[in-house]
Amino acid sequence: MTRPRIGLTLDADPARGRYELPAGYVDAVLLAGGLPILLPHAPQAAGAYLALLDALVVTGGAFDVPPELYGEPRRSACGPTKPERTAFEKDLLEAALAARLPVLGVCGGMQLMNVVRGGTLYQDLVADADLRGHEQPAPKDLPSHEARITPGSHLAALVGGAPLPVNSTHHQAVREPGAGVLVSARAPDGVVEAIELPDLPFAIGVQWHPEAAARHDPRHAALYAGLVQAARDARR
Ligand code: MN
Repeated sequence: MTRPRIGLTLDADPARGRYELPAGYVDAVLLAGGLPILLPHAPQAAGAYLALLDALVVTGGAFDVPPELYGEPRRSACGPTKPERTAFEKDLLEAALAARLPVLGVCGGMQLMNVVRGGTLYQDLVADADLRGHEQPAPKDLPSHEARITPGSHLAALVGGAPLPVNSTHHQAVREPGAGVLVSARAPDGVVEAIELPDLPFAIGVQWHPEAAARHDPRHAALYAGLVQAARDARR
């Protein structure tokens, strides 16, 4: 059977003139039976990319969503932003959701999914809410806290209802969920760890990195397997 084409947004390092992507994303898509399609930032080509894809992964990176996108002034604890990358990912994500294309948002990709639905973010968990313990030291793939899965959610159907050990390398998180956004997992301290859009066939965001955590727990691979299966279903 043909491999569904799974788009992966790239990170950019303009100072070095390079695009980058942790290989774990590519490996996870390949292992799940998908064909990874890497997406350089070309806002004028978002529609052309979309026509090529059967599903989309909005990846994470060491940068923050610009707070003006959720109607807040930038505070000092907010990290660096990559406005050109975010503008491209926002266009692509909005078009993918409108087309009911299966979407997985990872870390910053999950945060952007909430923002495009009108939700807000903590600009910094420690500064805004004194919530600590979400930026683990290396190695970044080891689990460092639990995610408690919302019963009956799409996420629960994929990874099961038991508490899921996850890695945690974020200083921001979902604050107010956007329109139609279901919180599908929380950390023991209440921080939102996963969201989904139940009005769509497959639109899930996770705050952790399943492509890195899968080597410690096969339940994480179910997220990529579910995405690839949804891409196959959508093709029919
Ligand atoms: Mn966390």
